[in-house]
Amino acid sequence: MNSIATLGSHCALQVLKGAKDEGFKTILVCEKKRERLYRRFQFIDEFILVDSFREVLDQKCSGMLNENNAVIIPHGTLIAQMSSSEIESIKTPIFGNKWILRWESDRNMKEKLMIESRLKIPRSLQGPKDISGLTIAKRHGAAGGKGYFLATNEEEYIKKRDKLVREGIIKGDQDLYLQEYALGVSAYLQYFYSELKEELEFFGVDRRYESDIDGLGRIPAQEQIDVDLIPSFNVVGNSPLVLRESLLEDVYSMGERFVEAARRLVAPGMSGPFCLEGVYDADGKFTTFEFSARIVAGTNLYVDGSPYSSLIYDEPMSMGRRIAREIKNAASKNNLSKIVT
Ligand code: AMP
Repeated sequence: MNSIATLGSHCALQVLKGAKDEGFKTILVCEKKRERLYRRFQFIDEFILVDSFREVLDQKCSGMLNENNAVIIPHGTLIAQMSSSEIESIKTPIFGNKWILRWESDRNMKEKLMIESRLKIPRSLQGPKDISGLTIAKRHGAAGGKGYFLATNEEEYIKKRDKLVREGIIKGDQDLYLQEYALGVSAYLQYFYSELKEELEFFGVDRRYESDIDGLGRIPAQEQIDVDLIPSFNVVGNSPLVLRESLLEDVYSMGERFVEAARRLVAPGMSGPFCLEGVYDADGKFTTFEFSARIVAGTNLYVDGSPYSSLIYDEPMSMGRRIAREIKNAASKNNLSKIVT
């Protein structure tokens, strides 16, 4: 394997910088409108310019990737812009387990994997009639929090849903998944599972800064009431976090249970980066409301390594670089089939 490719968005810079540091040729599948941005970075060796990322499915694009012996690193943009079947049909080798991405996109499958992992999860609701306490309505797939809203009863839900339908953000109930709102300190736990070493590495934690919800907290309650807005949870950026050391044991145990459950439910299991997303309550117990079965953009914080990766590696180790290291190690042992699908 001699090149690493990804789509120009999400965490492409970090991924390709890491790939370059590990000695790979780097390829960016880049929308023409973003070419000027990405040309600024010298570590990108080759551009495949497209009008839409969906061209990855076309013969021309996959031909170029195959000529370069490329591995694609999947990230949130791939999931947001393509259906699970389309991702599964990509001929170029994909790092990790492409089959598990379906389990990330489908809310019911997602819940099943979290239950199998014995994670504490918020209750999901059958429909708006079941709303009795603070509830979050979330869209399916990797919507990034856009169009999410809160409701405490059915009437409020209907009012907000109808407003979003009028604005063209959702089509109706079928686009929404209802979950109990979990109160606490949010934390996004970033892991890497090495299929080669059969070892889980805890890589870092971040918090997300989400608009409008985080901005609303900056204005007094009186003004909040007067604002006629359905605040969404659209991610704008990420900030770093370190955890109380006493929480780490549970962090590893949750990650390991997730890896074991994935191995049982979706062969070949959870290989590479993933993230458990949730909140800590007053007793330091974590409620997981989501997972991402691939690299998350919160790892962009740690291009030079994180407070946790620095405990494992004596060199700056970003998640992007860790992925490239895994590919390099697998290739040197003729074991690539173990880490790509
Ligand atoms: P998600 O797409 O599930 O990652 O959700 C986007 C954002 O919505 C998260 O980063 C949280 O801020 C918020 N969120 C999602 N689900 C819950 C939940 N059950 N309880 C509290 N906040 C949530």
